[in-house]
Amino acid sequence: MDDREFRTAMGKFATGVTVIATDVDGDVHGMTANAFMSVSLSPKLVVISIGEKARILEKIKQSKSFSVNILAADQQELSMIFAGQIKGHREVLFDRLDDKPVLAGAVAQIACEVSAEYLEGDHTLFIGKVTDIQLTNADPLIFYSGRYRALVNENPVTI
Ligand code: FAD
Repeated sequence: MDDREFRTAMGKFATGVTVIATDVDGDVHGMTANAFMSVSLSPKLVVISIGEKARILEKIKQSKSFSVNILAADQQELSMIFAGQIKGHREVLFDRLDDKPVLAGAVAQIACEVSAEYLEGDHTLFIGKVTDIQLTNADPLIFYSGRYRALVNENPVTI
């Protein structure tokens, strides 16, 4: 199996889109990520996966904290900014939640303290202990097969 086939297969898992943000000495750094998952309810834990080349990796190791901002459907531009898909510096303002930098308008802002980290292959998994959450009533941005999508609610399934 080659890298392309693996990436294509993983891209078939539809996800939301998050911006991970951290703060080292007042300098906020953000990165777009969809490798995010809830881990445990008691205690409340989440996991993110950060590539070895990402600049945010060392920053999270230093700050030992991060936020996960689940983007709303109208925040695709923020995803593109924090994935480096839009070149050049753009001014982005951050709010604060439990002293972690968070993005206004996100569907969910999740403040975390790093409780463990695991190097696995070319990524580091950070387990985050959730210290606070803020929710907004908006539809999420979706990522599937390498493209941004939106939820369509024409045929809702009743469970
Ligand atoms: P940089 O390349 O240094 O920063 C990324 C961009 O954010 C730069 O353009 C920078 O100018 C901008 N930026 C950073 N902070 C600020 C700020 N405070 N104000 C304004 N702009 C700022 N990679 C992973 O490791 N894990 C994943 O789960 C993951 N999921 C992804 C999901 C999607 C949908 C996409 C599109 C990409 C994903 N990536 C993921 C790739 C990752 O987003 C990029 O490789 C990213 O550029 C690497 O970030 P970096 O820390 O090296 O940041």
